[in-house]
Amino acid sequence: MSHDIAGLMAALPDIAWITDPALVRQKSRDFFWYSPVLKRQLNGAKGDAVALPRSEEEVIAILAACHARRIPVTPRGAGTGNYGQAMPLEGGVVLDLSEMNRVLWARPGLVRAQAGAKLLEMDRHTRAAVGGELRFHPSTRRTATIGGFIAGGSSGIGSCTWGILREPGNVLGLRVVTMEAAPRVLELRGTEVEKANHAYGTNGVITEVELPLAPAEDWVDLIYGFPSFMDAARFGDALTRMDGVVKKLVCVLDAPIPQRHFKAYEGLIPEGEAVVLAMLAPPYIETVAPVLARHKGVERWRIRTEDAAVPAYEHSWNHTTLQVLKTDRSVTYLQTLFAAPGHLALVEKMHAMFGDEVPMHLEYVRFGGEVCCFGLQLVRFSTEERLAEIIRLHEEAGAPIFNPHAYTLEEGGMKHVDATQLAFKREADPLGLLNPGKMIAWDDPDWTPARPRKVYLFGEAPEAEEVLE
Ligand SMILES: Cc1cc2nc3c(=O)[nH]c(=O)nc-3n(C[C@H](O)[C@H](O)[C@H](O)COP(=O)(O)OP(=O)(O)OC[C@H]3O[C@@H](n4cnc5c(N)ncnc54)[C@H](O)[C@@H]3O)c2cc1C
Repeated sequence: MSHDIAGLMAALPDIAWITDPALVRQKSRDFFWYSPVLKRQLNGAKGDAVALPRSEEEVIAILAACHARRIPVTPRGAGTGNYGQAMPLEGGVVLDLSEMNRVLWARPGLVRAQAGAKLLEMDRHTRAAVGGELRFHPSTRRTATIGGFIAGGSSGIGSCTWGILREPGNVLGLRVVTMEAAPRVLELRGTEVEKANHAYGTNGVITEVELPLAPAEDWVDLIYGFPSFMDAARFGDALTRMDGVVKKLVCVLDAPIPQRHFKAYEGLIPEGEAVVLAMLAPPYIETVAPVLARHKGVERWRIRTEDAAVPAYEHSWNHTTLQVLKTDRSVTYLQTLFAAPGHLALVEKMHAMFGDEVPMHLEYVRFGGEVCCFGLQLVRFSTEERLAEIIRLHEEAGAPIFNPHAYTLEEGGMKHVDATQLAFKREADPLGLLNPGKMIAWDDPDWTPARPRKVYLFGEAPEAEEVLE
């Protein structure tokens, strides 16, 4: 599809543009290659030019000019999404928000920032200004933007205490620019934030975010070793339930993931041991010791998170897969919900069913107020057919998969694109120019998934309450 990019750039001479083909290609890509399926499907996706707005006025000018010329616009933060969320499927403009990166203000317990602010920079700012830090962040803390996290991510380090992005109160306000002839600026607050939360930028460009803060801590990374994977998984559950213990990470990894693939931990963990990677506030480490002993665990390593060459959080969440890919390119992964209350029994069942074909990796979270775990299991990839079968077998066993091998909101399965979502898309992007191809309901409102979903991470399915009960 050819777009009038020359006309667009001539109309907006003051905008910073990138047109160098190699750079445009680079800024049209994200971590889609994590998935062998997406790698095949999306490798050719590329925008025509990249625009780098420095202010909301420039965002408005770009959206209005693109709307007038029917040019698609795909918002972009740092491009660390791993389902091809930020990849332009129909060319057009990649709208890179990384220049809009200021923290606007910090107050006790609250922060407001521009969408392109980096998570690490936000934490540095709020720690110094008000002794606070983000409640949770993805493992890409050093690179990702806050707008990209809210529009394309879900959960991360801190979710064992605070839940995930969808929990009411975790996102307080979003300022969004619509894609219309005369773009409007909307401030979404309360439940309204759900419209743009995890919507892949399909219904507006987020320019500012307002978030709650947790008290900043001098976090300590701990590695606990266990004789078996289920000992580690049960300890992870017990630790997450210790509500008086201030914690940020409870990550469970089966052997030989850390021994074989984590260079920074070389020699620290005996062969055959499963581990829990934890981040605790210093006063609580001794409180955990008796519970650790009860679960046959041994402390193998501790270091201030600040002092670690590679922090524990960069071995957790989706960084586990990244660390493994550094030494074994044949591996891919799953994203699974092991819902309460039967999560441990289901984990044990799936561990026995797949063995070393699906090495276990769990992240403990609070989900809908319950302690349970997400699986980010590795998969020793053989064929796309076998991958689909592994996904089907999990779902049939009662462990829904948020498919990281699909690039649409619906097939990814995290977001329920309901009537409210669709109505907001019609209002905010009536021509369907924002990140086209990512919301199936826009192109085909009657589409239904092959296997009906009972639970979503964002947006309630009518059945969701039943599943969580
Ligand atoms: C190694 C690795 C580890 C990861 N760990 C985690 C994790 O722990 N938890 C997690 O949730 N995710 C994780 N992810 C996925 C990803 O890093 C996060 O979702 C991240 O926060 C995305 O931020 P970004 O700035 O890179 O966004 P991008 O990848 O640039 O964009 C993500 C999506 O948001 C849209 N978007 C970006 N900015 C805006 C905006 N201002 N307005 C509207 N739409 C916008 C894009 O169009 C795209 O659809 C990981 C990915 C990798 C590669």
